[in-house]
Amino acid sequence: MSDRNMPEYDSGEGLALALSYLDDPSDVPCPRCGPDTMEVVAYLDGGGIEDGIVRAAEPEGDYTVVLYCHECSRAAALDLSPDTQTGERRDGEDRRAA
Ligand SMILES: [Zn+2]
Repeated sequence: MSDRNMPEYDSGEGLALALSYLDDPSDVPCPRCGPDTMEVVAYLDGGGIEDGIVRAAEPEGDYTVVLYCHECSRAAALDLSPDTQTGERRDGEDRRAA
């Protein structure tokens, strides 16, 4: 996965990021650096990653969000499949079942 010397978050930090993202996607603090350093880099199709295919996706349904911290240069890919959520946070913008 990381054949370069890229810093990574450990699993606990990744979990903290996921919880923060689910709580407020616009305000995700870095577990190491604090708030205002993380940026959403991309949304990826969650199903494609397992096949080695990386596709951009809309941030809905089965997707993975990629976050990057400008402070410590760590990136995190958060799998936010619907069945991992409780489903109580639905803002009902333009969400349609396929
Ligand atoms: Zn950081």
